[in-house]
Amino acid sequence: MPWMQGYPYYLIMGSVLSLYMGVNSYKHHNTPGRRYLWILMLLVSVIFAATAGEILSASFQAKLWFRNIQQVPLLLSTIFTYAVIKDYVSRSSAGLNRRLAVICIPVVLDVLLIFTDSYHHLMRSSVGMNTVAGVSGIVVHPTVLNMALIAYDQLFGVYAVFLLAVSLQSSSKYYFKWNVLLLASLFIPVASIFLLPLLKITVVGFTAFTYLPPVFITYFSLFRDPELSLYPRAKKQIVEKMKDGIVLTDRYNNIIDVNEAGELMLSALAERQVSSWVGKNIFMLLEQYGEVAVYYYQQIEGQFEIEVPGTADVCYGLSLIATENNYGQAVGMLIVIRDLSEKKRYERELLYQATVDDLTGLYNRRHFMRLVQNYAMQDGSGKALLLFDIDDFKLINDTYGHMAGDQALVDFSKKVLKLYGNNGIAGRIGGEEFAVCFFADSEEAALREAETFRAEVQKHIVRLEGGLQIRLTVSIGIAFTERCDATFEDFYREADEALYISKTAGKNRVTLGRRPVLMQVRK
Ligand code: GH3
Ligand code: MG
Ligand code: MG
Repeated sequence: MPWMQGYPYYLIMGSVLSLYMGVNSYKHHNTPGRRYLWILMLLVSVIFAATAGEILSASFQAKLWFRNIQQVPLLLSTIFTYAVIKDYVSRSSAGLNRRLAVICIPVVLDVLLIFTDSYHHLMRSSVGMNTVAGVSGIVVHPTVLNMALIAYDQLFGVYAVFLLAVSLQSSSKYYFKWNVLLLASLFIPVASIFLLPLLKITVVGFTAFTYLPPVFITYFSLFRDPELSLYPRAKKQIVEKMKDGIVLTDRYNNIIDVNEAGELMLSALAERQVSSWVGKNIFMLLEQYGEVAVYYYQQIEGQFEIEVPGTADVCYGLSLIATENNYGQAVGMLIVIRDLSEKKRYERELLYQATVDDLTGLYNRRHFMRLVQNYAMQDGSGKALLLFDIDDFKLINDTYGHMAGDQALVDFSKKVLKLYGNNGIAGRIGGEEFAVCFFADSEEAALREAETFRAEVQKHIVRLEGGLQIRLTVSIGIAFTERCDATFEDFYREADEALYISKTAGKNRVTLGRRPVLMQVRK
């Protein structure tokens, strides 16, 4: 195998490459997820260098010395792989240094025993030399104690793989593929320890090469991409600065996290100023909101709209989201509070514009008709529809101007609203045409009502701006029905025909529709 002649130099290249990446990674050794990366890379660099030294050395003693040196970074590499992954997945190195120191105690013992093995042979039952494809290195037959210590060491590599696999669930979507790649690459050195003896690969230093994929991938994913470790921080900041209130409770119903907006919103809902809601029991607030409390208590997800007490039109939307642990058990609640006031105002404004006439504040034609059709027509009780048309209104416009006409319309509407605003449906259905629908016991009652109104309008003096005073008269058409199967169209037509009769008969009068002998009440 001619390519094997360059083997020691591949190892040296591997060493230089890992050294370069280690030194570069050091610049960012304070960033979460990368605090131990540079150490791991330097360890791998030493593994490569020591292996190259072992192969290139001529004497057995020198080879053995390099082999012993190589064991130090090799044993530490799994532990630092664990440190890198632990720091990366938990974004915190709190207590990790102390834990690493404890974990390393058996490794120190391991290293001491290896270096002194020629005196006691506790670690190696035999040490020899072997040459494969022109590469000669040390062959060691480990003792049970040695294998036990290696197994202990490997546990941390396996644990690192496990930690990363579990963290895949919570990694950001964008970096998911990077994490999968990292996991796959980490798996190589961890699995190789178990697989290499089975594959009977005896080339010295092969283990060093198995560390290259994870070193490369961690370098490019963790080191080269600062966003990767910034992501959880950014996420935290987004939550903190959000306009929506975010409140997290634990299984004991205590608030364990709440953002700035959440603090203010909780205080508004509870109607008391609380400096921080963290640590408070959520029922301190929910006792005021029975329905929400019931949902919360049963850990049912739900959405609620709450008018904030003590405010004119502040409305909060509250979403309850059950949070679950890895086993699907509910462990607390996420409460998202959204200020819906602006949306509500906008909706009200839109509804107002769509349903109410600008000038008079009465319902517009479309909405009036919809209301009568949807509510009054369904009802079996007696109902009356009155159509009003102001007499000779064109003349008012022509005489006093359009503005004065408008004022007269507003004045007239006020009268309509005063009488029927609360006990009927009132609308402006045309320029100077109005309508009301109300429940009446009989035709006679409706007729009396209309006549009273007509008479009042006639008596009433409309005071225009500039001191002008005018009077209006109105013609009225009435339809009355007690049937609940009458169609709105027929009902309306009846009133309209009656109004037409009032007009043609001389205006300023009331006509009841569809009577054999039209009852007309003259002035
Ligand atoms: P009639 O007694 O037959 O009802 O006569 P009229 O003049 O009241 O009837 P017509 O339907 O011929 O005229 C209605 C007038 O109402 C015409 C229009 O200029 C006026 N008008 C309609 N809408 C408005 C409005 O919003 N403001 C003002 N100032 N005038 C309006
Ligand atoms: Mg008209
Ligand atoms: Mg008119």
